[in-house]
Amino acid sequence: MHAAADPPADPPPASPLAALIDQHAATLEAAVVAWRRDLHAHPELGNREFRTAALVAEHLRALGFDAVRTGVAHTGVVGVLHGALPGPAVALRADMDALPVTEEVDLPFASRVRSTWNGQEVGVMHACGHDCHVAILMGVAQLLAGLRAQLPGRVVFIFQPAEELPPEGEDGGARMMVAEGALENPTPGAIFGLHVSSVLPTGVVGYRPGPTMASADRLHIDVDGRQTHGAAPWLGVDPIVTAAQVVLGLQTVVSRGVDLTDEPAVVSIGAIHGGVRENIIPDRVELRGTIRTFSEAMRDDIHERVTTLAEAVARGSRATCRVCITKNYPVTINDPALTEAMLPTLQRVGGPGKLVNVPKITGSEDFSFFQRVVPGLFVFLGVTAPGQDPKTAAPNHSPRFHVDEAALTTGVRLLAHLACDWLHARR
Ligand SMILES: [Zn+2]
Ligand SMILES: [Zn+2]
Repeated sequence: MHAAADPPADPPPASPLAALIDQHAATLEAAVVAWRRDLHAHPELGNREFRTAALVAEHLRALGFDAVRTGVAHTGVVGVLHGALPGPAVALRADMDALPVTEEVDLPFASRVRSTWNGQEVGVMHACGHDCHVAILMGVAQLLAGLRAQLPGRVVFIFQPAEELPPEGEDGGARMMVAEGALENPTPGAIFGLHVSSVLPTGVVGYRPGPTMASADRLHIDVDGRQTHGAAPWLGVDPIVTAAQVVLGLQTVVSRGVDLTDEPAVVSIGAIHGGVRENIIPDRVELRGTIRTFSEAMRDDIHERVTTLAEAVARGSRATCRVCITKNYPVTINDPALTEAMLPTLQRVGGPGKLVNVPKITGSEDFSFFQRVVPGLFVFLGVTAPGQDPKTAAPNHSPRFHVDEAALTTGVRLLAHLACDWLHARR
C-alpha cells in the first residue's frame, strides 16, 4: 500500500455541515457501538435478515424518514430522507447478511446463533463485519435526520440483504434490489459504500480509482467417462485422469493466455468429487472453481478459454465434459471522476496519514451492481486495533475476525461527509 498524495493545495470546500457532522458523530458513538453489538449477537444469513431489517425499518420510521420501503429483494430496506433545501439525490448502502461461520472470538456479545445453510447445520457469525455496516448507516441516518433543516437534496439509505450470495436456488442481493427499483424514486446521482477491513489499521481509509474488486464467477465442470474396474482401465474411460488433466490445463488459461500487464486474473479449482473406492474408476468427476477478473472483456475471454480448453482436453481422452459458468458479481469499478472529486473528503475524514491507495482486491462485492446503474465509490475502513499487525490479524470471513469498534465513528463520519459534500457541490 502506498500513502496517498498530499491534499491538493486548494481543496474544494467541505459542506457547511462538516463541523456539525463531526460533533454529532461523536455524540452517536455509544449508540452505534450498542447497535453493532446487538446485531453481532443476532446475525442472520442471506435472505433471512428479518430481525435486522425490522430493526432498521423501525429506526428510519422513528427518525421521520419521508419514505421507508421494506421487503425489497426479500428483506431489503430502502429509506429516503428529504433535506429541507433543494438539491439532487445521493445513495448510501450497507449490506446486512452474516456468514455460515461459527464464531471463535471470546466476546460478551459473541454469536451463539445456529441455523441451516444449503441444507447443512451451521454456526452464524458476522464474520465479514456487515454488522458494522448496518450500525454505521443507522448512525448516519440519525445524524443526517438531525441536520435535515440544513440538508440540500435527498439521501437514499439502502440496507441490502444477501451480499454473500443468497442460499442456493434463491435470487437476492444488490442485483435484485436494483431490479426492484432501489435506485428509482429518486434516482441518485452517486452511490457510496464502505467495507470494514482487517488489512488496514483502525480508522485508516483505503480507496482506489477504477477496477478495485474482482468479478467473481462460479465454475462447474462435470467430466463424464465410463465406469470400469481399476485393474482394467482400458475397458472404460477414466474421468479421474481426465479431470486431473483439465485442472492442470486450466493453470495455463491465465499464465499463457492473459495479458498480465493489463489486469491480473485468477482461475482456481476448489473442489474435486469423484469415485468411492480405490479399485473402481467412476463414471463422473465434478470440478468446482471460481474465476476472478478486473475487466469485463477479460472476463468474457477467460470464460471462453476455460470452456474450450476443458472440452478439448476431455475430447482428447474420449471423455465428455460439461462446463457451466455462472456469472455472479461484476467488477467493482470506482468511477474515476467521482473518486477524484471525493478525494478531499476522504483525506479530511481520515486525517493526516490515514488515507491509503489500496492494491486491487481479488475478493468481490455486489456493490458493483449499483455501480452499473449510477457512478459509485466503494471504500475500505480499517478495523485492526493498534498494536496488532494487520498482516497477521484474522481476516474478514475468519471465525476469529475481530473489529476494533473505535473505527465505527470514522465510518459514520465517512459516509455522512461523502453524502453531504457530494450534495453540497451539486445543489
Ligand atoms: Zn464477505
Ligand atoms: Zn462483506
